[in-house]
Amino acid sequence: MTFRTDLEIAQAHQMIPITDLAASIGLSEEDIDLYGRYKAKIGLHVLEKFKERPAGRLIDVTAVTPTPLGEGKTLTTIGLTQGLGRIGKRAACTLRQPSMGPVFGIKGGAAGGGYAQVVPMEDLNLHFTGDIHAVGQAHNLLAAMLDASLYHGNPHDIDLHTITWTRVMDVNDRALRDVVVGLGGPVNGYPREAAFEATTASEVMAVLALADGIQNLRQRLGRIVVGFNRKGHPVTAEDLQGAGAMAVILKEAVKPNLIQTLEGQPCIVHAGPFANIAHGQCSVLADRMALKLVDYVVTESGFGADLGMEKFMDIKCRQSGLRPDCVVVTCTIRSLKMHGGVGRIIPGKPLPEEIRRENPAAVAEGCRNLAHMIKIAHYYGVPVVVAVNRFLEDTDAEVETVLREAVRAGALSAHPVTAWAEGGAGAVDLAAGVVSACERGGEFRLLYPDELSIKEKIEVLARRVYNADEVAYEPLAEKKIARFEELGWGRLPICMAKTHLSISHDPMLRNVPSGYVFPIRDIRVSLGAGFLYPLAGAMLTMPGLPSRPAAFGIDIDERGRVKGLF
Ligand code: ADP
Ligand code: MG
Repeated sequence: MTFRTDLEIAQAHQMIPITDLAASIGLSEEDIDLYGRYKAKIGLHVLEKFKERPAGRLIDVTAVTPTPLGEGKTLTTIGLTQGLGRIGKRAACTLRQPSMGPVFGIKGGAAGGGYAQVVPMEDLNLHFTGDIHAVGQAHNLLAAMLDASLYHGNPHDIDLHTITWTRVMDVNDRALRDVVVGLGGPVNGYPREAAFEATTASEVMAVLALADGIQNLRQRLGRIVVGFNRKGHPVTAEDLQGAGAMAVILKEAVKPNLIQTLEGQPCIVHAGPFANIAHGQCSVLADRMALKLVDYVVTESGFGADLGMEKFMDIKCRQSGLRPDCVVVTCTIRSLKMHGGVGRIIPGKPLPEEIRRENPAAVAEGCRNLAHMIKIAHYYGVPVVVAVNRFLEDTDAEVETVLREAVRAGALSAHPVTAWAEGGAGAVDLAAGVVSACERGGEFRLLYPDELSIKEKIEVLARRVYNADEVAYEPLAEKKIARFEELGWGRLPICMAKTHLSISHDPMLRNVPSGYVFPIRDIRVSLGAGFLYPLAGAMLTMPGLPSRPAAFGIDIDERGRVKGLF
């Protein structure tokens, strides 16, 4: 058998003109701004216009602790949307916008795969409608205003050693991680150590994702803390008088983007914050809008349920009032085998022989990780459905093992999904399972109340979600937690910055680690986004390129078409 690449499938696909797609969900020409024939932005007035409409059902797709190759969450999100379409439901998906750093680096794009994709795939993975550029511009304007303020007499008395505001770029460039700015003499400002991060790691991106309108976006930008003055008080974007201009730069970016699945369902793409130092979700506005336009909205939260789904619930749902009706936990046979103790998966290397060999016993052992993720979802009172994202080489015995273990762990139902090979037809069973889970419903609750102290919140997460026995705080973290409580930031939710490759803080610990101490090294604030992020280990906010980056394979062919994007 020969397979077409994702790009070949996407390029061969005949898309519906976006005006027709918009009309099919009740959006008129006044409701959208066209970006070519197949992309549009949706005006925020639509939320007001459809205020009286009942909201649809919201489904969050999450996963077991992933391998570095991904579990197929994006693919399952899109496949499930297509599957819901196949059983006659009006469905849409809401997704984060991929950033160009990973597109040219290791991971490639994020438009799904095989016959479960959203299109136009090239545009989505490249500049799209310019939102990421706008986020970068707004962020870097504030950085320039900060250095200008230091240069012009430092009227805010900013302590240079406390500056946390970086510069950002949408290229994976490790050489820029730590830099010195202001070299070249007095006319260039004060030399100081500074840093570059990926644009997706910017707090502006998290703000865009959590804002519920342009005014709220403006206020949140004003609350961004850039550093502290010599008395130890925070200095904000409002103090620097930059927030208004930043909001203006973002006035188009605040509108969600409409594209389509390969089977003609709407897909709303908006914002793309990191899932470790930020909450890893598409925007609140995208979800709210989609819920007014269709009956079933499928969204994806980054990484495993311990990280992405937990933040979806405790940050996005807490702040916005959004309430999921169902959680889908995705897994692959290869990752369950890895959790079951056979072999390690390294990106860029072929899958090890022991992972390729049939091994239902290892799969069963790895299902402890799946069971833990189901347990976490149940903390929120939401019904769980399991999706086994099936690869061609998976055997029936292995898949059956997961279906059995999933139901034993409390999932309402579990379904093999072959959306990669078959599109929506491969997710019809899952779609039916999700519909009945939504009908059954649950009693939504958050994991912890706002009133708990910072340490109490961290401890709830460490014990119940990361399965640790206790938490150890380094002196720096102790000091900053005490200071943050004094500043009145203790009511904010926690956005834990930890590895996605383990339930714990240690990427080497697979399956369900237990009996360990969870370490907190430092804690930082994203006051605009509205959360605190403790650091459990070192977090890379500017990725680097590998020795063979995806960029090597990307080119323009003789007809001017893109080659090698994936
Ligand atoms: P995640 O969202 O969990 O990171 P993605 O959905 O982006 O994962 O999938 C990661 C990559 O794996 C994509 O390139 C996708 O096409 C590929 N992939 C996922 N599931 C399958 C499958 N069942 N068969 C073949 N390739 C797959
Ligand atoms: Mg994804």
